[in-house]
Amino acid sequence: MATPEPSPTLSPATRAVSSLARSRETIIVGGGIAGLACARRLDEAQQPFLLISENLGGRIRRSRDNAVNLGAYYVRADYHHVNQLVTRGRRINARATRRHDPEGCYTLWDRRLLLHLPQAAQFLTKLLAFRRHYEVFKANSVAMSQAQAIRSDPHLWHLYQQPASEFVREHRFDAIARDYMAPGLHGTTFLPLNQLTAFSLLLGALPVIVPIYEFTFQPDALVEGFSDALLEDTVTAITAHNSGYQIETQASGSFTADFVVVATPAEVSQQLLGLPAIKGPVQAQMFEIAGTLRGRYNRADINLFPANDPTLAIARQANGSILFCTQQQTPAFDHYFNSWKVIEHKHWNPAFNLVGETLLECEQAPNLYLIGDHNICGLEDAYISGLHAAKRITRSSRTNVGAARPMSSARTTE
Ligand SMILES: Cc1cc2nc3c(=O)[nH]c(=O)nc-3n(C[C@H](O)[C@H](O)[C@H](O)COP(=O)(O)OP(=O)(O)OC[C@H]3O[C@@H](n4cnc5c(N)ncnc54)[C@H](O)[C@@H]3O)c2cc1C
Repeated sequence: MATPEPSPTLSPATRAVSSLARSRETIIVGGGIAGLACARRLDEAQQPFLLISENLGGRIRRSRDNAVNLGAYYVRADYHHVNQLVTRGRRINARATRRHDPEGCYTLWDRRLLLHLPQAAQFLTKLLAFRRHYEVFKANSVAMSQAQAIRSDPHLWHLYQQPASEFVREHRFDAIARDYMAPGLHGTTFLPLNQLTAFSLLLGALPVIVPIYEFTFQPDALVEGFSDALLEDTVTAITAHNSGYQIETQASGSFTADFVVVATPAEVSQQLLGLPAIKGPVQAQMFEIAGTLRGRYNRADINLFPANDPTLAIARQANGSILFCTQQQTPAFDHYFNSWKVIEHKHWNPAFNLVGETLLECEQAPNLYLIGDHNICGLEDAYISGLHAAKRITRSSRTNVGAARPMSSARTTE
């Protein structure tokens, strides 16, 4: 798990606990983009809640010098909700990337692309079709759960369950998969193509047709109006209690709530809810470096690497520093840099859970909701899952809150 870092906006448990009401209509656990989306929507609907989190922003993490995103790196132009909350920075241009392999390094527009043009055109057709379905899915998944929205679309449901390697074979995309998709996806999903599903492959390839941008994000601005409903703490247990739930925290004791929204990373949610299965974890190490890159790496804004290389991506930053993304704890910086000094290092373990086709329902038990990126990795889908939970809560008033089932009956689907 990522080391929790406190946020100045959250009330430290020690200060606020004595004055906190112990019984709340809704408690949200986790203040990443999903929990914040839910909180904002409940606040707009004037529904009372308490948000308990170790920090605000979660995997959206700026470096201490506020120059570099050490977690979520880009927003796509089709992040219709999230784009309203962030400030966009530079556009990340595919033309400024280079792919490296043992034989050399290549720009996007090299001779290989000409050879692969028919395959590339067919892949583009598949990607456009995926985008049409995915847009409808996102719109649907405010009103219904992600799991229901995916299952209700046979095209997406098939892709969600299909291994990416099978999709590549079926459509004879082998050459562009090797030369183009694999290095790009390795740099963004941190996985080789054969560990992805067709759905994650196509989602990860959307930047081919949808512009992407660096961004900055101010969690403190997002909680304006409800900063008194935030508590900095770690939730250690959630159990069924009378007709609602009891929430145990590390420092502030216990709370009860009619509705609980769990918006923590997958492994924490698994432990809190006893989920039988989650997707497999993917780790990554982010280094912000001051230095100069060696010749072949110095010609591009972004360098990408093949799937068997532990180096994931090297990205030149607007402030002149370099973001080095790798799976190694102690990378061979000398190989890439003439000179180098680590400004900051962040190990995400896991960065996200992306391996496999587990599909989790939002409502795990009556009035107990699971939101975030458990099913689909990325800021926009996590945000929308928070809107869905808020919608479910606002629809049920306190007077018709039903009896909670015990946690053991939490529903999970594969
Ligand atoms: C290195 C990296 C690069 C990425 N790049 C991109 C990208 O470019 N674009 C993109 O769209 N997505 C990207 N992602 C994925 C994206 O960051 C996530 O999908 C998204 O942030 C998930 O949001 P969340 O709210 O579900 O979870 P999180 O952001 O993880 O929020 C969970 C919250 O729960 C809190 N918490 C954890 N345990 C407890 C506990 N026991 N009690 C109380 N609180 C707890 C945490 O403090 C945190 O605030 C990237 C992720 C990483 C790590």
